[in-house]
Amino acid sequence: MKTIIEPFKIKTVEKIRLTTREERRRILRDAAYNLFLIPAADVLIDLLTDSGTAAMSSRQWAAMMDGDEAYAGSRSWFRFEETVRGIFGFKHVIPTHQGRAAERILFASTCRQGDVVPNNTHFDTTRANIEYRGAAAIDLVIPEGREPSVVHPFKGNMNPQALKDLIRERGRERIPLVLLTVTNNSGGGQPVSMQNIREISGISRAAGIPLYIDACRFAENAYFIKLREPGYQSKPVREIVREMFSYADGCTMSAKKDGLANIGGFLCTNDGKLAEQEKELLILTEGFPTYGGMAGRDLEAIAVGLGEVLDEDYLQYRIVSTQYLGDHISKAGVPIVQPPGGHAIYIDAKAMLPQIPPLQFPGQSLACELYHSAGIRAVEIGTVMFGRKNPDTGEEVPAAMELVRLAIPRRVYTQSHVDYVVEAILEVHERRSSLKGYRIVHEAPFLRHFSARFEPL
Ligand SMILES: *Cc1c(COP(=O)(O)O)cnc(C)c1O
Repeated sequence: MKTIIEPFKIKTVEKIRLTTREERRRILRDAAYNLFLIPAADVLIDLLTDSGTAAMSSRQWAAMMDGDEAYAGSRSWFRFEETVRGIFGFKHVIPTHQGRAAERILFASTCRQGDVVPNNTHFDTTRANIEYRGAAAIDLVIPEGREPSVVHPFKGNMNPQALKDLIRERGRERIPLVLLTVTNNSGGGQPVSMQNIREISGISRAAGIPLYIDACRFAENAYFIKLREPGYQSKPVREIVREMFSYADGCTMSAKKDGLANIGGFLCTNDGKLAEQEKELLILTEGFPTYGGMAGRDLEAIAVGLGEVLDEDYLQYRIVSTQYLGDHISKAGVPIVQPPGGHAIYIDAKAMLPQIPPLQFPGQSLACELYHSAGIRAVEIGTVMFGRKNPDTGEEVPAAMELVRLAIPRRVYTQSHVDYVVEAILEVHERRSSLKGYRIVHEAPFLRHFSARFEPL
């Protein structure tokens, strides 16, 4: 069968509004051509992020009604703790309001000025929290992971030789931990193989350095292992997950991704002394250790979500529907990062719109046109987001790549929504030579993509 059947039926619906092209032209102009400044109510299909945008199940909503809001030792906490321990296998579970809070507490407890923390590729909040401690965040993804068009089954793998070299050059005492991000978000949602996790763990443990996993998309990564790595085809995903985390000493997690929840996160460790220190920090800024930064009902939603995300019918639908979008546009000639990752498709705007130079923001142009022509919201990941000003000359330096990310919220859109997105992209692709660049008329000194104002050229 070719049709992707969503392994759920719909009990509650949320209206989305089909605006006219004329309305969208005006909305874009009013938002100064910055899609972050458009009200969500004016978006038809919102592919800005997969974070915190999942649809919850009837069981999650039912569990939320049953949330125990006791300050200390609530029933919901014990359920949450037992679920997290059961899936990941770590001794100590520390609840936080989202992933970056877990990162902040972990790095505040382990990193010092002058340390280095290797990762396959650091997510932006991970990097920021490490640098805030005065430590350096280093990316050691394999060379294939940096080439958009190169196909490799595990493009998220860390380069083991590069890790050995780093440990030899910097010394193990300057490396408080090694991180592995599964899947590798910044590299396009590309998975890490079990063999690589095992090897990186071996190198880290031999040097006496703890290995932590940034677990945000752990279930998607485990499903890729099942599909692509010899020896795992008949293993249940739950067992694959257990093996992945058996090689690590702890993890950070944003429940806004594979927790199938709209907020929440946690930090795990096997180190009892470290856990005590982390709980002291937790109390300062997040809350008492039996709720962290969450309400009892949030703990319930995540406990149920973590079970549902391991359902293999769900995972098949998830991975296949993302791939469906990627394959359909790439077969028609749209250049994308290959192969499709777990949670998003990235269009290579530099290759698609060669007439627009990087300093006229081809990714921004494509993202604006997708909204204008079809009401779809994507995000530019290129020179608007990562361009740098040369501090001496004031001249702009373009980013390495000009990508447009289409992130897929979990369980939110059906195959006909995805078909609509495919049609819209192909329609814009047909008339790609008519697209024009933009210039920035106002920008903030940091994270300009959130608030910059543009004008079409
Ligand atoms: C989203 C994300 C984080 C941060 O989590 P938040 O819940 O957004 O704070 C960290 N690492 C990765 C890989 C992520 O995708």
